[in-house]
Amino acid sequence: MLEKRQFYINGAWVDPIAGTDHNVIDPSTEEPCAVISLGGAADADSAVAAAKAAFPSWMATPVEERIGYLEKLLEVYKSRRDDIASSISMEMGAPIDMAKTQQFGTGTYHLSNFIEEAKKFEFTKMLGDHAPDDRIIYEAVGVAALITPWNWPQNQITLKVGAAAVAGCTMILKPSEESPLDAMIFAEMMHEAGFPPGVFNLVNGDGVGVGTTLTGHKDVDMVSFTGSTRAGILISQNAANTLKRVHLELGGKGANLVFDDADEKAIKRGVLRMMNNTGQSCNAPSRMLVQRGIYDKAVEEAAAVAAKVKVGAPTEEGNHIGPVVNEVQWNKIQGLIEKGISEGARLVAGGPGRPEGFNKGFYVRPTVFADVNNEMTIAREEIFGPVLSIIPFDTEEEAVEIANDTDYGLTNYIQTTDGTRGNRVARQLRSGMVEMNGNSRGAGAPFGGMKQSGNGREGGVWGIEDFLEVKSVAGWAAE
Ligand code: NAD
Repeated sequence: MLEKRQFYINGAWVDPIAGTDHNVIDPSTEEPCAVISLGGAADADSAVAAAKAAFPSWMATPVEERIGYLEKLLEVYKSRRDDIASSISMEMGAPIDMAKTQQFGTGTYHLSNFIEEAKKFEFTKMLGDHAPDDRIIYEAVGVAALITPWNWPQNQITLKVGAAAVAGCTMILKPSEESPLDAMIFAEMMHEAGFPPGVFNLVNGDGVGVGTTLTGHKDVDMVSFTGSTRAGILISQNAANTLKRVHLELGGKGANLVFDDADEKAIKRGVLRMMNNTGQSCNAPSRMLVQRGIYDKAVEEAAAVAAKVKVGAPTEEGNHIGPVVNEVQWNKIQGLIEKGISEGARLVAGGPGRPEGFNKGFYVRPTVFADVNNEMTIAREEIFGPVLSIIPFDTEEEAVEIANDTDYGLTNYIQTTDGTRGNRVARQLRSGMVEMNGNSRGAGAPFGGMKQSGNGREGGVWGIEDFLEVKSVAGWAAE
């Protein structure tokens, strides 16, 4: 079993001051695969002190140099693909091929995008022709605590670290205690890329311990958090006493509006998108809203597609889905499937229990419910498993109303061959992102939500701006 108890603070791997052992569980075997240390307040304090000390010189480092460090990081990152992928696969259950492509690929994508955006970004600019002696200066917020989840671990880490680094912030990363191993590899890469000591620090811990210390810390200027809405609320409350900036990327309950005139691949695409990463994506299209004219056919097709989704071990090559992350999630998903049945939804694929052939591991059957209404628990709660709810609708107005009738507002999806309708509906959906007809958002597009899905935007220029203060200077002398 791997022993990974140290933290990365001030440019070196150090023993915990107040650590307790924590087993990382392989969700495919239910056995421990590594032991890490959950830090205490003293460990978090030490990382914050290092980040605070490193801030003035990192902030003053010319942006071209900061971009240079990120370019080096990208080079190192690309060289560690297999290590990163096998760690992610082992600790959160992503099938190895998917971990090597999709999970790993998010990191190269975000780091490259930040490098491009930072090169174009004007850190000092004129207010306007009417005020030639005014300057707007964008400068780093300060010490940033980065708290990340386990579901797309390198995606979240690179979105935060890449942006914070080019903005000139120093950081303390607290990755999820479910997926600390790939994050520790990331810390090794930051070291190899040569970032100055204290610019990036990593402390493992749980939410109650290191998480709470960081979010309430007087020397932390900003928290960038991705995770559950539940934790987002607690973090906002705890951070309020020090009035720090809080950036939140939270849960979702995305609607996928499939109109009668949708293209022929729309249903299959929607089901597979739901099942990807074993349903553990904040932007999963978990409510499929289908117009009445194609409803019966769509239900039949969705059930058939789900029945063909293969479930397999993370170590096996190929195109299948793995287990869900842990026992708590497995139990929660089972409870929600039972709830769907007892509240009267029609089970058309999957159902409770493990898939055939599995008697251990947190495996879930790819499940589809039809005849769901938007009041049912399975339509309201984020399930975070491979469970799709299909809801019928008659009119466009009704579809928009159902889609918006949720506490969340992260990503919604539209399937129609009527472009004018698509655009019209996209404007009415209350979510930070809308994806139509299988188009993914372009490089550098902002990622983030409305309502209880959060308040920040990550990725591209918006991601960098999130880590910047805006300073307005009058009387700027000609240079
Ligand atoms: P979680 O909220 O349980 O944990 C996320 C992180 O927060 C972990 O590092 C955890 O240790 C820490 N944490 C928990 N409680 C805390 C507290 N009180 N104070 C400080 N830190 C605390 O979420 P999870 O189970 O790891 O991840 C799944 C959730 O993340 C889902 O709800 C999903 O939708 C959401 N998510 C959102 C996005 C997005 O960009 N909107 C992306 C991925 C995941």
